[in-house]
Amino acid sequence: MTSLFPALTSGSPDAPALRFGERSLTYGELAAAAGATAERVGDARRVAVWATPTMETAVAVVAALLAGVPAVPLNPKSGEKELGHILADSAPDLVLTAPDDQLPAPVRDLPRVDVDVRGSGPAPEERADDDAPALIVYTSGTTGPPKGAVLPRRAVARTLDALADAWQWTGDDVLVHGLPLFHVHGLVLGILGPLRRGGSVRHLGRFTTQGVARELNAGATMLFGVPTMYHRIAEAVTSDPDLVKALTGARLLVSGSAALPVHDHGRIATATGRRVIERYGMTETLMNTSVRADGEARPGTVGVPLPGVELRLAEEDGSEVTAYDGETVGEIQVRGPNLFTEYLNRPDATAAAFTADGFFRTGDMAVRDPDGYVRIVGRKATDLIKSGGYKIGAGEIENSLLEHPGVREAAVTGEPDADLGERIVAWIVPADPQSPPGLDELADHVAGRLAPHKRPRVVHHLDALPRNDMGKIMKRALAHD
Ligand code: ATP
Ligand code: MG
Repeated sequence: MTSLFPALTSGSPDAPALRFGERSLTYGELAAAAGATAERVGDARRVAVWATPTMETAVAVVAALLAGVPAVPLNPKSGEKELGHILADSAPDLVLTAPDDQLPAPVRDLPRVDVDVRGSGPAPEERADDDAPALIVYTSGTTGPPKGAVLPRRAVARTLDALADAWQWTGDDVLVHGLPLFHVHGLVLGILGPLRRGGSVRHLGRFTTQGVARELNAGATMLFGVPTMYHRIAEAVTSDPDLVKALTGARLLVSGSAALPVHDHGRIATATGRRVIERYGMTETLMNTSVRADGEARPGTVGVPLPGVELRLAEEDGSEVTAYDGETVGEIQVRGPNLFTEYLNRPDATAAAFTADGFFRTGDMAVRDPDGYVRIVGRKATDLIKSGGYKIGAGEIENSLLEHPGVREAAVTGEPDADLGERIVAWIVPADPQSPPGLDELADHVAGRLAPHKRPRVVHHLDALPRNDMGKIMKRALAHD
């Protein structure tokens, strides 16, 4: 049995653990608050957590983990239909909330336990073994209705330890956090990660570039963000010297949850001399790869497999891609202690997700450079366009379009075409809505940089791209426009 949070019992009780706005808890205070909450959930089979970006959410999840009761984080911005689906599927006994939370209909029907962050309880003792489920986290629903991934304690512990190795992450690190707490990025990496190391978190409540600058300039060492946050940073560095100073002084800037556009990576590097490092993970697998803190942050790549993770690329017939030449595309398959055990109530989906030898089929397509760096070209379902006999990844075309000065945001999809099989469609948010770049101009731009067969054949102009809470582009919504 591994303790997930050794710092709660054997660390210094006065060391800072969590801060949300004006409120903060030391490790001693967190142990007491989580211990008291753990006493109240101890007999439950499963608990939901109303996962607002607050201290109560962090305490609730730590308490459930201490009690050995699987926690199901709920996205407070979900509609009633999605919440209804998740509650029916996961059947929690109660919901953990903050005292002033207003709950919508389906959640309101559950018994409610308000978390008291000033609570005092007995010294917590962790009551579960490594195989026991720690969290049930619903996928983002980018490609279909969300599925509940059952994550064992082992996966949480091992992924965080692998990241500590890759990022030289220690108890001295102070994380600036501006992400929601209902996905693995914000919750597992952003809250459980620092607590497992004995370090601390400063949550911004709501992400702003000013908040990032303030915290990094006040001694925080790391920033975790999604690409839309780094996009805002890339826009702001040209006019905000405080932000430049903050980023220049940070120990580590990490991006994940979706591909970081090469253009934004480059703009941040030019302004600050710092390279954002990318890591790649999923709800089902936690983290798979990362650029290492002492490695080369190669733009457009997600680095190398983390310690303990076996990664291979598979051809359509299931055989392994043999050429790691930076060009041959295959589906990423992974095996390791970081994996989930099953999709809740979905034995069919679980069985379909694994190969006979126990690798998880990620649905993400990639190439591998000869030295092992992984480059994601996109999702099999939405980002791989089969046009004119070629397999073309949407990602590199999006990156190329974003280099055009008239393009602010870009997404690329395929649509049926009598001649080509599929044709490439570009969805553009123009930098200046008065003079959006046209098809010929963008097609020439892409053809000149990549290859003629990668040029878009259709361009649509939009005011904004449809994105979910993590800033991921919802391509399903685009294709059905
Ligand atoms: P659903 O599975 O419900 O359709 P989802 O796949 O978006 O939704 P998540 O588990 O939150 O749900 O996201 C994992 C996916 O995010 C990965 O499969 C991958 O496509 C993408 N992703 C994560 N990190 C990166 C990255 N650094 N670069 C590119 N893509 C990434
Ligand atoms: Mg997925």
